[in-house]
Amino acid sequence: MPTFVEMATMATTAIKLASDLRNIDQGLAASEAKLKIADLMSQLADLKIGISELRADSEGKDAELVELRKAFAFKGETVEVRGFHFETRDGKPVGEPFCPICLSKGKFYRLTWSRKPGRPYTCQVCPAEYSNAPAYLWSDQRGS
Ligand SMILES: [Zn+2]
Repeated sequence: MPTFVEMATMATTAIKLASDLRNIDQGLAASEAKLKIADLMSQLADLKIGISELRADSEGKDAELVELRKAFAFKGETVEVRGFHFETRDGKPVGEPFCPICLSKGKFYRLTWSRKPGRPYTCQVCPAEYSNAPAYLWSDQRGS
C-alpha cells in the first residue's frame, strides 16, 4: 500500500505530465504526446489503486476503533480482583476472569480451567497461564 507521501508524489507527477501536455507546441511530435498521455494514465491508475487501498485500510481502522471503544466501555462495567477483571452481577464478580494479556489489547477472552498439572487457568487465545487466578460462581448458580 502506498503511503500518503508516495501518493502525493504520484499526483505531482501526473500534474506535471498534464502540464507538459497543455504546453505542447507545434513542435511536439504526436508520438511524444502519446507517450506522455500513456505515462499520465499509468500515474492516474496507480493513484486510483492507492486511494482504494488507503480507503480500505482506513475503514479497517475505523472498525477497530469501534471495537476498542466498545471494549473500553465494557471494561468500565467489569470489576477488578487481584489484577483480574470479571464480569459483574449486582456489582459482584462472577465467572472466570478475562485474560489480562488479551485484555491489554482490548480483547475480552475468559480464562478457562485447564487439566494441566496444577490446574492453572489458561487463555484459549494466547499462551497465558495463571495458577493463582480467582474465579466466582455465576449468579444463577448455587453452590458449593
Ligand atoms: Zn489471552
